[in-house]
Amino acid sequence: MPFQVSAMGISSAAELAKIGDRALVRSEAYVGGRWVGAPSGKTFDVVDPGTLDRIATVADMDADDVRRAVDAAHDAFAGWRATTAKQRAGLLRKWFDLIVASKDDLARLLTLECGKPLGEAAGEVLYGASFVEWFAEEAKRADGDVFQSPAAGTRIVTIKQPVGVAGIITPYNFPIAMVTRKVGAALAAGCTVVVRPAHETPLSALALCELAERAGIPPGVLNAVTCSADGTPAVGRELTTNPLVRKVSFTGSTPVGKLLMGQAASTMKRLSLELGGNAPFIVFEDADLDAAAEQLVFCKFRNSGQTCICANRIFVHESVYADFVDRFVALVTAKLRVGHGLAEGTTFGPIITERGAAKVEDQLRRAVAAGARVVLGGRRPEGLAVRGHFFEPTVLVDVPADVPMSCEETFGPLCPIFSFSSEDEVIRRANSVDVGLAGYFYSRDVARAFRVAEALEVGMVGVNTGAIGSEVMPFGGVKESGMGREGSRYGIAEYLNIKSVVFSI
Ligand code: NAD
Repeated sequence: MPFQVSAMGISSAAELAKIGDRALVRSEAYVGGRWVGAPSGKTFDVVDPGTLDRIATVADMDADDVRRAVDAAHDAFAGWRATTAKQRAGLLRKWFDLIVASKDDLARLLTLECGKPLGEAAGEVLYGASFVEWFAEEAKRADGDVFQSPAAGTRIVTIKQPVGVAGIITPYNFPIAMVTRKVGAALAAGCTVVVRPAHETPLSALALCELAERAGIPPGVLNAVTCSADGTPAVGRELTTNPLVRKVSFTGSTPVGKLLMGQAASTMKRLSLELGGNAPFIVFEDADLDAAAEQLVFCKFRNSGQTCICANRIFVHESVYADFVDRFVALVTAKLRVGHGLAEGTTFGPIITERGAAKVEDQLRRAVAAGARVVLGGRRPEGLAVRGHFFEPTVLVDVPADVPMSCEETFGPLCPIFSFSSEDEVIRRANSVDVGLAGYFYSRDVARAFRVAEALEVGMVGVNTGAIGSEVMPFGGVKESGMGREGSRYGIAEYLNIKSVVFSI
């Protein structure tokens, strides 16, 4: 049965023109408090993944331009670190207020460049803003300690100081929240930053810079350099090897994270790496099946499956397998409507690129060849009057244990449902991958809830929920999902050095 499709007829240009605050739509880089084009004159296109129409041409900066941005951030560092935490908090709070006040315009811009449905985009704007508000508050609590000295006549104290200039590289799937989660913490700590937003989605980051400028964040404290996919390796190398950059924070895939880690070793930079996931979602035999099915729709298919913590491998106990699949398929069919993110009624948008859609197709083909059965979706949808990279929400059953989607991150709308027979077996299978970002399970047994939460090799666990992640929770992974934590009180610590001071009195 074909999926319900929203009325399309969307013109990207007409939708872009609906953004009321025109100054939020920027096409130049933001360096030292000025909007600058690439000195080379080069630009690259930003494309609406729901129509494939070009929505902007943006400055294609190179490694020399990044060096100038790092110099600007370095020049601004002395002044910014000298501000009081209260002053920084005040400026961040103003930035938060402006982001919230611009929610509708920012959400429309976000949907146009990233594809997620408008309601989801508005949710991301508020989620992104919450990090700015949170770190405005945390700025005031970055206190040191006083230690009991082992030697008479001495006192030991620690102070916390900003690391320095931070180089920040973000992915396309959360064009606002991945920027604010890092920049909010860095600025609160007293660091200055150079942000390189994803080449697919630079417009949201530039809009954030415009609002930061209006909030009064001083020139050079926040810089954003845009560049094309082709220019990215050289720009990434500059950010990870420039000696003035003392910290690199990256969110993206594990292979790129490894590359950047290697490059950053030459100057021994502090590193935060938020990398790929492959989350298990386990439904035990004593689970509330309706609640589990309901949450799985959100946990698997939001942002068309392009979320690092989205459920990637679904394990359902063999005794409830058929029942759960029926309930889940009925819910997905009822709730998801495929279409352009700005079309009325859309709850499921396009995939960002043809490469992403092709990966989904390839994983699907290999699973079906190995014996998996498609019970819902499985195709590029029919009836869409536009050329975007759409792929139906797809549910597979009877999936063999050794297909690629059992060990690789899909990052797309495939939902393979595996069957298991015991707790030991499912924990072994859940932990059998190289990454460990998020994991979820449903069970009514309290003892099991503790046991399984402790046994899963991941950084974050949802017990009877598929919705995790907020500004107050430490966010990050284990194994090849990276290192460091964002959000929470640990997020600001990633941008602070601890200095011990011993006094002889
Ligand atoms: P990606 O690694 O291809 O790209 C991420 C960013 O890195 C983009 O801005 C890209 O342009 C840039 N980049 C690519 N090559 C680079 C290089 N050589 N030097 C410098 N920068 C480079 O990842 P993607 O496909 O865009 O994003 C999806 C991946 O991100 C998934 O694996 C997902 O799990 C992960 N992710 C993780 C988290 C998290 O918090 N752990 C959050 C979101 C996404």
